[in-house]
Amino acid sequence: MAPSLRVLIHGGGIGGLTLATALARRGHSVEVAEIRDALDALGVGIIQPTNALHVMREIGVLDACLEAGFPWEVLTIADPAGNALARIPQPRMGDVPAANGIPRPALAGVLGDAAVAAGATVRFGVTITALDDDGTGVDVTLSDGSAGRWDLVVGFDGIGSPLRTRLYGDRYAPAYTGFANWRVTLPRPADVRGVVMATAGKEAKALLTPITDELMYLGAVFAEAEDFRPDPEHAHEELAKRLALFSGPVAEALAAVTDPAAVVYSRISQVTVEEPWHVGRVALAGDAAHASTPHLAQGAAMAVEDALVLAESLGTAASVPAALETWEARRRPRAMWVQALSRAVLKQETGGETTAEEDALLEVGVPGAAHVLAKSY
Ligand SMILES: Cc1cc2nc3c(=O)[nH]c(=O)nc-3n(C[C@H](O)[C@H](O)[C@H](O)COP(=O)(O)OP(=O)(O)OC[C@H]3O[C@@H](n4cnc5c(N)ncnc54)[C@H](O)[C@@H]3O)c2cc1C
Repeated sequence: MAPSLRVLIHGGGIGGLTLATALARRGHSVEVAEIRDALDALGVGIIQPTNALHVMREIGVLDACLEAGFPWEVLTIADPAGNALARIPQPRMGDVPAANGIPRPALAGVLGDAAVAAGATVRFGVTITALDDDGTGVDVTLSDGSAGRWDLVVGFDGIGSPLRTRLYGDRYAPAYTGFANWRVTLPRPADVRGVVMATAGKEAKALLTPITDELMYLGAVFAEAEDFRPDPEHAHEELAKRLALFSGPVAEALAAVTDPAAVVYSRISQVTVEEPWHVGRVALAGDAAHASTPHLAQGAAMAVEDALVLAESLGTAASVPAALETWEARRRPRAMWVQALSRAVLKQETGGETTAEEDALLEVGVPGAAHVLAKSY
């Protein structure tokens, strides 16, 4: 295979920018086509577990992530009043920290800078409008009228992936789980030094996640009708009503929320592409191929692992299609495991009926999963 491939990445999110960096650092010619006008990720935070941090180190941005975020080591399980019931040290993968909370816009900035510094071109406000794979290359036209020929096109275009629709129609459209996530960014109290998971039985669970020295976010998942949307003028009060069982730090954090616009509401959906993740020289990765519920905080971690393993596979295989086969064989079992356990945790926490297979997965549980996933990807 040519030592330098031409790769077009559709989507400049977490996975797409990681792939752009990993490939450009290996000498490939990389272009990212991102539909948004800038890297303006939602202003909430994200957890980078140790396996994601390991990938960040491999692409040279670990220190930048840790500087922009809040590294932490211990998960605290608490009662509704915030009293600690258990403190669970999180595993490390090699010598990288156990976890890092980081604002999404900061992570987008770190990854975007890294991709450009490595030599990738990131183009904003463009999307694929036509694509023809003739077996030896892919001819692509973008929405600004420009056209090019690529050795590989990768759809890192998120849960709603237009490239997935182009390949598979609506067979793998996102399936709503019946649950939604409420998040709000707040000042970080000095004693929130790692994720605090406060639970009120099956009724409710609230997570406090530090993301910088100054900030944390409060997150909570509730069953919501598919067409429900919070009232734009009262979203903070609706969230407070749902978390009424909590006192202590969760209630104190909520009391500080006076602006309904500060509340970010996201429906939780799932995607599982059952057919191969690539058709010829066009591949799907990250959420486009396997979006999961956020219960293990591993969706973006799986996306960046996908990216790094794809870059590695392209470096060793005899052809692009062979690299895609090797890559998927390595990635699918792990991504499916994360998805199945995340879904089982969602059911367990909300009193849903679990299958025997899910019960077996739940014996591993969230703390056990962290240990499984801290092993090599
Ligand atoms: C509530 C919630 C909390 C979460 N918390 C965590 C967490 O703590 N840790 C974790 O690891 N994961 C978490 N996740 C999951 C994580 O956000 C996703 O798994 C991750 O962002 C997937 O990365 P991706 O690159 O595949 O897609 P994305 O990051 O979604 O990027 C897709 C990109 O494609 C672009 N795009 C879309 N359409 C087009 C088009 N037509 N043309 C060009 N570009 C296009 C988008 O603008 C976007 O930039 C959470 C998810 C949710 C919903």
